[in-house]
Amino acid sequence: MVPEHLKPVPWINQDCKGAGTLHLGGSFEEIAFSEREVWKGNHPEKPYVLVSQPSLFDESRAPKGKHTLWAYCHVPNNSDKDCSEEIINQIERYAPGFRDIIISTHTISAPEFEAYNQNYIGGDINGGAQTVKQLLGRPVFQWDPYKLPADGMYICSSSTPPGGGVHGMCGFHAAKSALKNEFGIRV
Ligand SMILES: Cc1cc2nc3c(=O)[nH]c(=O)nc-3n(C[C@H](O)[C@H](O)[C@H](O)COP(=O)(O)OP(=O)(O)OC[C@H]3O[C@@H](n4cnc5c(N)ncnc54)[C@H](O)[C@@H]3O)c2cc1C
Repeated sequence: MVPEHLKPVPWINQDCKGAGTLHLGGSFEEIAFSEREVWKGNHPEKPYVLVSQPSLFDESRAPKGKHTLWAYCHVPNNSDKDCSEEIINQIERYAPGFRDIIISTHTISAPEFEAYNQNYIGGDINGGAQTVKQLLGRPVFQWDPYKLPADGMYICSSSTPPGGGVHGMCGFHAAKSALKNEFGIRV
């Protein structure tokens, strides 16, 4: 349980005050609309926003007595638009007064994200578009995408099927491939 004095964001919904992660988007239709807009290359006025409140659970994430709030919204690939205002406006809808308790903000754009990690192509946190083709054929289309041309070398990570995400399946399949090819062990 998070103590009352450690719940800084004035969320209207009391359950949100103790949540690690929040998905803000209003109705299903509103989320679908805003996501479709991004897909078309536009910046929606009311984007779907993912919010994390890490310092509620880990006090090392903020100076004593203060808090950090982390959020992102989707933008067209490689867009350098700063969407802080849109994100703050969305949070304000569900936590009126939020803007007034902000001490400072730090923003990172999609191109800056790629500069930080070249695997985030155009800022894509999944290591490239999660299309059906990419889901099965990354880094290249071949029967065993985990086995590299060099003998005894294998690749996993979000650069292999089934792509980005903290599901662990890329490593699982790469390990299976290595066991089969190197030792004849089928798991
Ligand atoms: C902001 C953000 C939010 C996300 N949100 C979600 C989410 O909500 N749900 C979800 O499922 N996925 C999410 N993801 C995606 C997910 O985190 C990634 O797809 C996943 O972590 C990729 O795993 P990976 O093993 O390929 O790479 P990473 O997790 O990036 O691991 C690569 C590791 O290799 C290390 N490394 C790099 N170069 C070297 C080197 N030369 N020598 C030694 N070590 C090296 C790095 O330090 C790092 O620890 C998010 C990603 C980001 C960036």
